[in-house]
Amino acid sequence: MSAGRRIAGALLIAAFVAIGIAALAGTVESHSGHPQKKLFSEERWHYQPDGDYGAWMNLSTSDVWLNCDGSAAACGAKWDGPFTSSMADWNGQPTTVRFDYADGIQNTEFDVDVYIEDEIPGGGGGLLGFAPTYDINGVLCSSSCVVYSGIVYIGDDPHSGYYGTANDRLATISHEMGHIVQLAHESTNPGETQVYACGTDDTGPIPHSVMAYECIDPVAIGGLGESFVQPWDVCGVNHAYNDPALGFTGCDLTTITATPSPTPPAEVVTWA
Ligand SMILES: [Zn+2]
Ligand SMILES: [Zn+2]
Repeated sequence: MSAGRRIAGALLIAAFVAIGIAALAGTVESHSGHPQKKLFSEERWHYQPDGDYGAWMNLSTSDVWLNCDGSAAACGAKWDGPFTSSMADWNGQPTTVRFDYADGIQNTEFDVDVYIEDEIPGGGGGLLGFAPTYDINGVLCSSSCVVYSGIVYIGDDPHSGYYGTANDRLATISHEMGHIVQLAHESTNPGETQVYACGTDDTGPIPHSVMAYECIDPVAIGGLGESFVQPWDVCGVNHAYNDPALGFTGCDLTTITATPSPTPPAEVVTWA
């Protein structure tokens, strides 16, 4: 089968040109002193800390919409576990972002909705995941954008063959949730015309990331099957949405090995 594709709407941005960042309050990219996880440089959620970092980036998140395989029960048998595991993984990270969801509570007016569809609308049938974000007018973010909502679309049918495992379903959801909080791809060159092995890019060795295809792809097709949020991803969120109490946790490359164990933490495989 062909390699799966996981993309973000913001990939349509011609280039990740670092302009206009200062206009987006709550971002801290202007400092220097250590490497930084790649972000969508001109896109952030509208929320501001206003002196309180406790809940400013608690994104109301709908319980997963199970629209595949003809019934919520059949769809949920494949996707409930990975969704719950992804939420637990992201929400357990040392960042100020929380995906605030409750089992069984679904609302299209929430900040974030995750839809499991047989095929992603407009995705051509082979798309694993897609994470568009929208501005205050509901217009798709495609350049400098203040985000008011985000949708994760997951294609169930493409999660078959090598991708048809609970581990890979988790990987896709967590990858797309990363896009929702403006994490860009890793292990690519700046124009994303090349894909590099997990732990490398055009600059040389880099940390592993749930935003790198080759880190999360199935082992059977040359990936590492790393379906979990990595310190480098935490670093990215801490740059995009900084809580001074957390600083730039995850960014210290001296604590990030270039080739960490591909074995996921136990808590994210309890559904397997
Ligand atoms: Zn992606
Ligand atoms: Zn930094």
